[in-house]
Amino acid sequence: MAVGQNKVTRSRRNMRRAHDALTAENPNECSNCGELKRPHHVCAACGHYDDREVVALADEVELDDEDAA
Ligand SMILES: [Zn+2]
Repeated sequence: MAVGQNKVTRSRRNMRRAHDALTAENPNECSNCGELKRPHHVCAACGHYDDREVVALADEVELDDEDAA
C-alpha cells in the first residue's frame, strides 16, 4: 500500500535506504595476463579462462575485407 511522501519522515526514509547500497565486486587477477577480472568469468583483456584461451581477441582474428561485403 502506498504511503504519502509527507507521512514518511526523512529519518524513516533514510533508515530504509540504509540497506540499499550495492556491494563492490571482488576482482581476481587473471592467471594468464594478470589483469583484474570477475571471478568465474572469462578474462575481458585476453579471453582466457583457467589458463585456456576460450575467446579469440578481435585483433588476432584474420578478417577478410572482401567477404565482409
Ligand atoms: Zn587475462
